[in-house]
Amino acid sequence: MSVKENFFEIKDEINRACLRVDREPEAVSVIAVTKYVSLERTKEALQAGIRHIGENRIEGGVEKREAIPDIGTWHFIGNLQSKKVKHIVGHFDYLHSLDRMSLAKEIQKRFEGQAPLKCFVQVNVSGEESKSGLTPEETIPFIEELRHYPAIEVVGLMTMAPFVDDPEDVRPYFKQLRELKEAVEKRNYPHAPCRELSMGMSNDYKVAVEEGATFVRVGSALLGKER
Ligand SMILES: *Cc1c(COP(=O)(O)O)cnc(C)c1O
Repeated sequence: MSVKENFFEIKDEINRACLRVDREPEAVSVIAVTKYVSLERTKEALQAGIRHIGENRIEGGVEKREAIPDIGTWHFIGNLQSKKVKHIVGHFDYLHSLDRMSLAKEIQKRFEGQAPLKCFVQVNVSGEESKSGLTPEETIPFIEELRHYPAIEVVGLMTMAPFVDDPEDVRPYFKQLRELKEAVEKRNYPHAPCRELSMGMSNDYKVAVEEGATFVRVGSALLGKER
């Protein structure tokens, strides 16, 4: 199937999910996760009308961005080593994986004097050991501390749910992330408006939308896998 056909089908599913819970479909953006695919396939995504591109590695991600300089909003969604923050500058608009103070410090250093980097704080809601992210208990104190880092704007929270056969099984994690986001939002921190929820991937994005996702990160269901 072409990327365009997949995209229309996914948008259709998102519309239906929104209808079930009385949300506006315009509030949900699809990030095309291009980590498994070539530059050509990434361009196909942009031609299909997709405007958000997600990469989880600096290698590959920066290459694509440099080959496609003028279009789209670029999201860095993977774990980021502090020494690689400098490569984000000028290449990515959002970071979805802010999960430690040492990374915040490096972002502050590299983005000093520029527009703040839009960051999602990554939360490990399920507590799976293989996943990165803060515990829910650590999240609010961490965000409070980020007020000392003016190069960072906390736009929202992000999580990766465990991989399960039945996506209903991860609903409680998405719900918990939404509740945590609402708790942060209520505090009205100027540095942390925290209005966005980055959650849901190919196998569970419909449930994520029902639970309030504003960005879903979809790779294989949208683009297939080439590598
Ligand atoms: C790979 C990846 C995705 C997309 O995965 P699919 O299951 O292919 O949709 C989403 N988010 C993150 C952080 C990823 O690394």
